[in-house]
Amino acid sequence: MKTNGTKKRILITGGAGFLGSHLCDRYLQEGYEVICMDNLSTGSADNIAHLIGNEDFHFINHDVTNYIHVGGELDLILHFASPASPIDYLEMPIQTLKVGSLGTHKALGLAKAKNARFLLASTSEVYGDPLVHPQKEEYWGNVNPIGFRGVYDEAKRFAEAMAMAYHRYHGLETRIVRIFNTYGARMRIHDGRALPTFMRQALSGNPLTVYGDGSQTRSFTYVDDLVEGIWRLSQSDYTEPVNIGNPQEVSILDFAKEIIELTGSDSEIVFEELPKDDPQVRQPDITRAQKVLDWEPKHDRKEGLKKTLSYFKEKVKQGSESTS
Ligand code: NAD
Ligand code: UDP
Repeated sequence: MKTNGTKKRILITGGAGFLGSHLCDRYLQEGYEVICMDNLSTGSADNIAHLIGNEDFHFINHDVTNYIHVGGELDLILHFASPASPIDYLEMPIQTLKVGSLGTHKALGLAKAKNARFLLASTSEVYGDPLVHPQKEEYWGNVNPIGFRGVYDEAKRFAEAMAMAYHRYHGLETRIVRIFNTYGARMRIHDGRALPTFMRQALSGNPLTVYGDGSQTRSFTYVDDLVEGIWRLSQSDYTEPVNIGNPQEVSILDFAKEIIELTGSDSEIVFEELPKDDPQVRQPDITRAQKVLDWEPKHDRKEGLKKTLSYFKEKVKQGSESTS
């Protein structure tokens, strides 16, 4: 609570996106007044429709690469605005670079002006196609700066550098979460990421498109676990980056098979060309999160996927977006 007894106020940029909307829910539950700022470029008003009318929730349609004005005090800023799926950031390369650089600068400037704590949504992509496995926060990564994914990876690396500079130079309280592939309700079924794509394909009886031979690995985190980790980090006094992800690693081919089994689909698997610079492996070392946040994921993949299935069933049934 503020000293005057009013509620704590939080700004969540990208708050109408997949993760941002879950964070709006969580911080409202924790008693915050939530200001959600989003330009709806990859997010959707549907994700926050249930919050409209809540007197502690406010939505501002704004592109955070431009000067950000928020009246009154702020205690915390969660900076989540950024395209996040490879399809999105390949379609919007310059916006992606701008939101990671200019948008982060604006959000940090606002945090400084309001004397608010700032938490940056960074990513496992800062490790690029990693040469160290699993990835610890001390690893500096292996990123191709001029590759197609570079627009996202380098924007996030720049954003981390900018956050640390504001911390060191201005004494701002900053937090950096390195998020590993997260899934759950409110993902767009056409966002191109592996999980929504496989769910959509399996539930509509189409072949599942595995890129390359499917031997590349990922470690998928259920959204509630991620939100818990972010909540704890935002309340902690820890400044260095923290990996939040589920260390349960799986090859993409096995993952596609799991989705087929889960959905009871008779879809086949087809193999398509592996996109350039696609990381071969990815698995978080979560020792730091365990130590400083007493955090670890509570849902194994099977359980998390089961919880997510009904959402995708509904989305595919609605056919609100065309099926491939
Ligand atoms: P998302 O696309 O659903 O959400 C991003 C939100 O940011 C959208 O609502 C979009 O409209 C908004 N946005 C984009 N540019 C903006 C701008 N210039 N001004 C205002 N709003 C803008 O994606 P997500 O999966 O929810 O990802 C949210 C954040 O988490 C991103 O920063 C992403 O890099 C990070 N992240 C996500 C994952 C994951 O697995 N989902 C993994 C690593 C990092
Ligand atoms: N992938 C795939 N088929 C698809 C979509 C993705 O085989 O239809 C692969 C992709 O090449 C990558 C993995 O699944 O190796 C995870 O992709 P996603 O886009 O979900 O996340 P990221 O590559 O950013 O980890």
